[in-house]
Amino acid sequence: TAAHPLESVRDEFPFLDHAEHRPQLAYLDNAATTQKPRCVLDSLVDQYVTANSNIGRGFYELSRRATDRYEQARATVRRVLNAAHDEEIVFTRGTTDATNLLAETFAARIVGPGDDIVVSGMEHNSNLLPWRRLCERQGATLRVVPTAAGRPVQPDALAAELSPRTRLVAVTHVSNVLGTVNPVRDLVRVAHQRGVPVVVDGAQAVPHLPVDVREIGADFYCFSGHKVYGPMGSGVLYGRRDLLADLPPYQVGGGTVKGVSHDAPVSYVPVPARLEAGTPDIPAAVALATALTWLEGLDREAVRAHDAHLVRYAVQALGDIERVRVVGDPAADPAGIVSIAVDGLHPYDVGGHLDRHGIAVRSGVHCASTFLDDLGLVGTVRISFAVYSTVAEIDRVVAVLRTVRAGEWTTHYPGVRFR
Ligand code: PMP
Repeated sequence: TAAHPLESVRDEFPFLDHAEHRPQLAYLDNAATTQKPRCVLDSLVDQYVTANSNIGRGFYELSRRATDRYEQARATVRRVLNAAHDEEIVFTRGTTDATNLLAETFAARIVGPGDDIVVSGMEHNSNLLPWRRLCERQGATLRVVPTAAGRPVQPDALAAELSPRTRLVAVTHVSNVLGTVNPVRDLVRVAHQRGVPVVVDGAQAVPHLPVDVREIGADFYCFSGHKVYGPMGSGVLYGRRDLLADLPPYQVGGGTVKGVSHDAPVSYVPVPARLEAGTPDIPAAVALATALTWLEGLDREAVRAHDAHLVRYAVQALGDIERVRVVGDPAADPAGIVSIAVDGLHPYDVGGHLDRHGIAVRSGVHCASTFLDDLGLVGTVRISFAVYSTVAEIDRVVAVLRTVRAGEWTTHYPGVRFR
């Protein structure tokens, strides 16, 4: 099938066309969550209207239909990620759910007193706190690979942090703060040379880059559906079959057991069901697969070119404004995110001011305060793009920020200045 072009892609998003948002809203917070194309919304409704029933439990046609669609969604995710087996795909509520699952099942068994876990200095709390809490609980050490000025994590720098006691490496594919793309394939290779398994947080990568989990070679790869045009509450944990197969359940309950009697030990079903206790969000999983298929159907080259064009345009245009500084080097390897700092103004003030002009951006520490501390910033103003973002939206940001110079700004956070 021919890829469909990007020019008309905006028309596929009812949110963008809604009278309440049009024409004044410039939605530039796509790294937080993306809007949903009509096919994804239709898929959700269709699942509720034509197949709503619980999966795996009913010996009736409707339940089988729901189960089939859920399992087809899994097969679609497997294909899109180029995983080898359907059982390597676990549906979760998102990235946070996936990293917590791994901390409580995989890592909890292999990390003991005196061991360490290595993370990068640019992690989102969701790929930091599960490991940190586990280390605290087990008497292990969390080691952090320093990331100079937001540059990609270097394989050598990772190697330098690995010790004979390192049990796990957790690293983000793309930074949600600066859009930095990490060389995950090389990082995985370095860790594997020492026999250390790797978890990759792909929350910001899947929306922007083609992700092939076998090429990357990571043992685990997590992402959130809602950041890739799919529904809230959907997400994926990919794990190598041999590693997943061995995991104990994360939560126990319905759907996880072969049989339970009062006196015999509980025996659990194989993965992925063992890791999906309780009734999952079936329509969300189905619609996530719809979203991935839809994204795949776009001309991926055009998507990447569009992304690169927007990032480079924004870097150039924003960088030209007095008192505005682009943080890091997002144009080096564009992934849909540009973070700026405005000298003398707190990011909240900047975000609030842009909001009064109908521009939605994210301001603050982006759930990565340790990274912001290392950057020496109280926060950034993050502008992030999706396939429907336009140069005209960037121009509006630029026009508003130009008034910083003209002194049209009030600050609600006095005393906060960039160091
Ligand atoms: N990791 C990264 C890099 C993210 O950007 C996010 C979302 N901001 C998460 C993890 C957490 O994703 P979720 O809230 O969907 O679980």
